[in-house]
Amino acid sequence: MHIDCDFPGGNVIVDQIEGDTAHIRPDVRDTMGHWFYWHFRVAGAAGRTVRFQFPGGDGTGPRGPCVSTDGGKTWAFYGRECVQEKSFTYAFPSHAHEVRFCVGIPYTERNLHEFLPKHRGRPLFSEETLCADRSGRAVELLKLGKPAEDAAACLLLTARHHCCETTPSFAAEGFIDAYFGEDALGGWLREKLACWIVPFVDKDGVEAGDQGKNRAPHDHNRDYLGQPGLYPTVGAIREQVPAWGGEKLRVVMDLHCPWIRGKWHEDIYFVGCNDAEHWARTSEYCRRLEEVRAGPLPYYTAHNLPYGTDWNVDKEPHLSSCAKWARTLPSVWLANSVEIPYAACSGVEITPGRARLFGRDLAAALKAYLEPRL
Ligand SMILES: [Zn+2]
Repeated sequence: MHIDCDFPGGNVIVDQIEGDTAHIRPDVRDTMGHWFYWHFRVAGAAGRTVRFQFPGGDGTGPRGPCVSTDGGKTWAFYGRECVQEKSFTYAFPSHAHEVRFCVGIPYTERNLHEFLPKHRGRPLFSEETLCADRSGRAVELLKLGKPAEDAAACLLLTARHHCCETTPSFAAEGFIDAYFGEDALGGWLREKLACWIVPFVDKDGVEAGDQGKNRAPHDHNRDYLGQPGLYPTVGAIREQVPAWGGEKLRVVMDLHCPWIRGKWHEDIYFVGCNDAEHWARTSEYCRRLEEVRAGPLPYYTAHNLPYGTDWNVDKEPHLSSCAKWARTLPSVWLANSVEIPYAACSGVEITPGRARLFGRDLAAALKAYLEPRL
């Protein structure tokens, strides 16, 4: 049996293999404290039943490990039946020469490059480069719609400030699909909104398979105050987005995954802010979202996490998230972090298709919220 993570997004430390038990753990790298992202492949185990043993109790989420038997093209959660307290067990089919396992549904540059041809060539779509990441790797910037000066409003949509948080990438695809839809929603979005989408804020981390959350000395979503920031992508967003959107920049939506499981973390929710006026606007948007939601992932305003609740207190006022930064821009009406779970949302299992449809729901709610205001 051979276990490795030598591919984009891969992450594992193999401490020991003893017979049919593999002792593994997440490679936290520069994370301060523990985090739970892992993604590895196993070869040479066809026909065997293998136990994957973690040293801590945080191996898998509410639907067990996510598994791919086709080289990472398609994924499905394997369920909790295979999960013991600190391990899971997998019976490799006799023909399974390579099986991949991940804590969630992986999404790397390869996935984006499989998605983009669907929209390539449209007159209101362009693929550009925001900047070079620290390694020199190009960071994608997707531009949707008219020039800002001809649009009624501008929107920034970001994902992967924390690179291990993959579900939002599928929601971003669904948002783009909705934007170019041949229906009333797509028509309205193209008429009114110019959008910039940064699908991988921590591009290097996405490809390296880093955790990204709580990087030392601070992570990408704590890099929005002070000059210069640590990360070139954040610097480029802070410089280029206001210059592009100007007074028309109305919405900044930053997509995340929450913790692996448990209360708050198995529902979609908006993260409340310490600004009553802004939170009132967000809450109205959220009511529209609850009303217009048509996709399979449930969303209820009651699941939002108001400021001051649970983890949502500003313990580091000298640092700023993307949303907190955007709320300082006077033109911005809505700037929020949206948490979309890894594996299960209010009892419904996450799939790429379902997460895409939630991206469409976010877009439909924007139409409902913005239409009377533009
Ligand atoms: Zn996050």
